[in-house]
Amino acid sequence: MSQLSLTAINGSTNHRAGVVSNNGGVGEIHVILGPMFAGKTTELLRRIKSEKSIGRNVVMIKSSKDTRYAVDSVVSHDGVKFPCWALPDLACFRKKFGLMLMTRYCEIILDVIGIDEAQFFDDLYEFCCNAADNDGKTVILAGLDGDYLRRSFGSVLDVVPLADTVTKLTARCEFCGKRAFFTLRKTEDTRTELIGGAEAYMPVCRQHYVKGHTGIGVAKTLLEEGSKDYQEISSVEAKA
Ligand SMILES: [Zn+2]
Repeated sequence: MSQLSLTAINGSTNHRAGVVSNNGGVGEIHVILGPMFAGKTTELLRRIKSEKSIGRNVVMIKSSKDTRYAVDSVVSHDGVKFPCWALPDLACFRKKFGLMLMTRYCEIILDVIGIDEAQFFDDLYEFCCNAADNDGKTVILAGLDGDYLRRSFGSVLDVVPLADTVTKLTARCEFCGKRAFFTLRKTEDTRTELIGGAEAYMPVCRQHYVKGHTGIGVAKTLLEEGSKDYQEISSVEAKA
């Protein structure tokens, strides 16, 4: 077992036979959705830490495609960190996890599995289904519901019918400061999976998605105009 896997799991190791969950075999699935910069990872980390604080064994997984901040940590945009496994797919986690459970004298029963950037896992549906229905795990996942063209991204939406709860978070529109539901790409790259942060993407409201999506030149102009409008709106709100 690597040092990472030890730190990713709560210290209260269980020594039991068989794959048994701590909550009597009843699994749960919770989905956190939204555009980029909506605080999805922050909310995921908050929930995972809360589960850990009540003594449940937790683990975090993220895609090995996303190495923007750190290879072995889940890091939110505001810099909060949590150790995790960075894996190419979820089957791979299940394989590792299965091997750990077979270790006779070091059997760790996981209760809660956190998955960040869930849109990058193609086998998300099967994994969640098995983890909650058969293994009795609580799965909490965070991911983009839509890509920069507002099309369903990966398998995140496929998991919604399996979920106990679904939370859609919003960001702040970079143009006008209103609630942002969508992610606008600032570059002309047309690959669906272009991993990037604020240099490549911005959260936008519906109005500015429609305007900004027509071209990055327009997006830049809107950004300049928008920040001016936003200042005006802010000053009006301050006066009100
Ligand atoms: Zn806007």
